[in-house]
Amino acid sequence: MSQQKLVLASGNKGKLKEFGQVLAPLGFEVVPQSEFNVPEVDETGLTFVENALLKAREASRVSGLPAMADDSGIEVDALNGAPGIYSARFSGPGATDQKNNDKLLQELSGLTEQERSARYWCVLVYLRHADDPTPIIAQGSWEGRILEAPQGDGGFGYDPLFWVESESCAAAQLTPEQKNKLSHRGKATLDLVAQLKQRQG
Ligand code: IMP
Repeated sequence: MSQQKLVLASGNKGKLKEFGQVLAPLGFEVVPQSEFNVPEVDETGLTFVENALLKAREASRVSGLPAMADDSGIEVDALNGAPGIYSARFSGPGATDQKNNDKLLQELSGLTEQERSARYWCVLVYLRHADDPTPIIAQGSWEGRILEAPQGDGGFGYDPLFWVESESCAAAQLTPEQKNKLSHRGKATLDLVAQLKQRQG
């Protein structure tokens, strides 16, 4: 069976490798959008789904190929769901993981363990073409709570502050394999694969 090229609307090499491995058995060769000079799109949506669709649609439009995109973030209950879709830009212009984590700690200061519940979300979308009216939308979430101080140096983003009850450690203390089994992204990927398989019949 010849492989169908599938454009990943991301410049992240780790994501390219991981999605490439998972989707190869389904007949897809995942290629980065940099191969087609896809311009970066403004993430103007108000939901993970909308932002993922904006990115995938642009990648598909420019490349003329099927495309997929992901969008993810963390929802903190005490902050009414913030930072949510703004997770990467939580601390404002020039945001870094460190600044975002500092801001989160500051906003939650004085709250008890029970008041620090949070979850990561990941949405993956797949479009057969830019005008595809029935995209595949896959989702995964991961429950946890926000620590009072960072722990561990693995992962990225909010992982040093994300307590994983089942493993009694922070997400930044998990191996990549452990994280993949538990994470929002791992679950969304399984959901995407299941939906693609269903479509392939
Ligand atoms: P995206 O790359 O536009 O989806 O941005 C997602 C943002 O959400 C990242 O920059 C992180 O701040 C946060 N985030 C999403 N997934 C994770 C994760 O697995 N660990 C830590 N932070 C994450």
